[in-house]
Amino acid sequence: MENTIVAISTAAGNGGIGIIRLSGPKSFEIIDKIFIPKNKSKKIKGYTLKYGNIINPENNEIIDEVLVSYFINPQSYTKEDMCEINTHGGMVIERKILNICLKNGAEIAEPGEFTKRAFVNGRIDLSQAEAIIDLINSKSDKEAKESINQLQGNLSNKINEIEEMLMQIMINIEVIVDYPEYDIDEITNDEALEGLSKISNMLNNLEKSFERGKLIKDGVKTVIFGKPNAGKSSLLNKILNEDRAIVSNIEGTTRDSIEEYINLEGISLKLIDTAGIRNTDNEIEKIGVEKSRKLANEANLIIAIFDGSKKLDEDDYEIIDIIKDKTAIIVLNKIDITTNVNTKDTLTKLCKPTVEISALNGIGIDNLYDEIIKIFSLENITNDNEVIITNERHKSQIRKANQSIENAINSIRNNMPIDISSIYIKQAMEDLGEITGKNVSDDIINEIFKNFCLGK
Ligand code: GDP
Repeated sequence: MENTIVAISTAAGNGGIGIIRLSGPKSFEIIDKIFIPKNKSKKIKGYTLKYGNIINPENNEIIDEVLVSYFINPQSYTKEDMCEINTHGGMVIERKILNICLKNGAEIAEPGEFTKRAFVNGRIDLSQAEAIIDLINSKSDKEAKESINQLQGNLSNKINEIEEMLMQIMINIEVIVDYPEYDIDEITNDEALEGLSKISNMLNNLEKSFERGKLIKDGVKTVIFGKPNAGKSSLLNKILNEDRAIVSNIEGTTRDSIEEYINLEGISLKLIDTAGIRNTDNEIEKIGVEKSRKLANEANLIIAIFDGSKKLDEDDYEIIDIIKDKTAIIVLNKIDITTNVNTKDTLTKLCKPTVEISALNGIGIDNLYDEIIKIFSLENITNDNEVIITNERHKSQIRKANQSIENAINSIRNNMPIDISSIYIKQAMEDLGEITGKNVSDDIINEIFKNFCLGK
């Protein structure tokens, strides 16, 4: 890149330190103008820190005492010359230094521009850049771990491996097209079919991993079901006030829905705050059975709560009917009062994990957590060597590629001229190339980097 960019890279507000980052060919020149190191040596070495003062070169006013780190291209985050100014945190100082950088030849960076440069300059590919956003936004250990795996290149490697396999098949096909006089069609067809089927399987597995990837990334969508007064609000409050479940509130996309995330031993649960969770009066009538069914269908987990001290009634049976084929945990509440033997009996026969609790005083909540962990434990979700797709864009490219592979397979099976299949194979390679960014439009690139924060 021609220009040198600058941004405040630490989060807004007062912190122990703040970092202002510069990247581009003029980084060192700008620093030279605005920074007076205590040690006057002019020599710049990569991966070193210098201690000194940032000054305003117009009047030599000292702005802050700082440490400046130096990175010489290509050994930097962006592969360009870079400096990071470590200031005493605080918006006033950070802004002042930013402005001085701007006055002395830097331009303000766009969100994600540092990472975009790392991509454009070939240090990381597009899927790795996306992993950086995911890493920053991670809500659970598992999500952070998947992002790091992707940043380390495990998805890119898999995609490159498949592309190479496709390339090999293409080469074999081209040989027949170029030398039709050799009678090698049969063998090539069989070999191509075998190779393509193998690839299709690999793509299928990747596509399937997205279901688990979504649980990791978006959290386990959890709804609490129960008729009015069963104890839904009490249970929700207990969960949200518990130390063991770390709570974070994240605004939902619509104004009237707030999603509460809790983090349970690395599993992120997204408690969907719906009428089903919060509304205490006459819920079944109010939200309607259809709505409940819809919610149940969308959820990854239903916590079905029953008043265990009472006889089951019509509304309870409605709930039992809704959850019977779903992933659900049965919660028998109010055991501090008494347990109705028939209720317990009927619920136990549903053959779902069942826990007895008192939402009022917290008895048994740990058992509920244990059941959740059993169902969604990390070991069940992934094993470490497996590549998991966590990104919708990647999944859709994999699906497209797989469709092209299927078209290629069908064209060979239907004895169409073999070069038809090579058109489909080429298409599949292009689809996969969009994941790593080998061939991807500027629009998509801009869309991806728009999601970054400033200074990253
Ligand atoms: P919701 O309508 O399902 O949200 O139920 P609430 O959480 O509002 O509870 C309804 C009533 O039952 C309230 O008066 C609660 O105090 C009471 N309650 C909830 N859980 C328990 C429990 O475990 N034991 C007892 N004794 N009362 C409970």
